[in-house]
Amino acid sequence: MKLVIQQNVPLKNKTWFNTGGAAAFYCQPSDGLEFQEAIAFAQQHALEIFVLGHGANILISDDGFDGLVIHPNIQTLSITNDQHDQPLVTAGAGVSMEKLITYTLEHNCIGLEDFSGIPGSVGGSVYINLHYFDKLIEQFLVTVELIERTTGTIITVDKNWFNFGYDQSKLMEHNHYVIAATLRLKKATDLEVAYAKGRSTEIIRHRVSRYPNKNTCGSFFRNFYKDEVTLTVNNKKAIWVAYYLDKIGVKGALKVGDASVSYQHANMLVTGPQATSTDVATLARTMQELVFKEFGIIPQPECILIGFKNNPLL
Ligand SMILES: Cc1cc2nc3c(=O)[nH]c(=O)nc-3n(C[C@H](O)[C@H](O)[C@H](O)COP(=O)(O)OP(=O)(O)OC[C@H]3O[C@@H](n4cnc5c(N)ncnc54)[C@H](O)[C@@H]3O)c2cc1C
Repeated sequence: MKLVIQQNVPLKNKTWFNTGGAAAFYCQPSDGLEFQEAIAFAQQHALEIFVLGHGANILISDDGFDGLVIHPNIQTLSITNDQHDQPLVTAGAGVSMEKLITYTLEHNCIGLEDFSGIPGSVGGSVYINLHYFDKLIEQFLVTVELIERTTGTIITVDKNWFNFGYDQSKLMEHNHYVIAATLRLKKATDLEVAYAKGRSTEIIRHRVSRYPNKNTCGSFFRNFYKDEVTLTVNNKKAIWVAYYLDKIGVKGALKVGDASVSYQHANMLVTGPQATSTDVATLARTMQELVFKEFGIIPQPECILIGFKNNPLL
């Protein structure tokens, strides 16, 4: 067996909240074969699996994760052309969105620059159907190489397989994990690439100046689906969760332990050096209770909670 499996590995420094306990077992497969070894190990020892990307959208319990954490370190990147001479870019699950965007622009392929400044891996981005305003990663996906949780069988599926929606994908059933994804982009002239690079820089500047960009998971709660809300603002259903959170006055004001609601954005929770995951979860639950009391609806997390024996949220 080539794959190294470590025991009792702290996960705190592998998440953007910088909180949480340790993984009972931990490994970093660098290709599909090693990923299969990891799955076989989990099967042999009857371990639960959690696949960790870059930790930008998770809250790990202070008790850690009592199973095998698989952190795919699959860093492959390649380009071919489709039958219409448009580029198909294939990226391993562990490639960061930042590296993917830089690589595609360097190869005169445009399209992904709206995702500039969003942390995370290709695997995590497919899982959540990464979004920025009206751009979703599903709009670029062609095929994805997946590994099956119990057998380790590797399959290639097209994007219809995923039943994508806002913050929704079939990967949330946790029966398959991403090994690599292929995206169709647009072949661009040098001038178009220069424009796309400028747009990328501007989006990053905008994000850094407006939102916290460390010790957070970005938006903690997802927006509401239309059928969940009755309130309308300017004749439109009020689906934006930040609208409700702003109204209850938590921005820059509510704090539990060393976790607080950002002064910049009511839907972003930030941790200080002493924060625990319990602080974050208690803060989030308090926000849910306040929104429920005021508006009768309960915000639901976009952030994924891992290793909690009981759901700490409503
Ligand atoms: C500052 C900040 C800003 C953000 N802004 C945005 C934004 O604008 N839009 C947006 O959509 N998100 C945003 N996010 C959330 C985050 O960037 C995305 O959810 C990202 O895709 C998470 O990727 P990750 O690799 O860090 O996944 P992780 O946080 O490690 O994991 C998240 C989920 O993905 C699963 N997963 C990870 N890798 C795989 C794989 N290979 N196969 C199957 N499942 C996998 C995990 O099991 C877990 O359930 C932001 C986060 C931060 C910290």
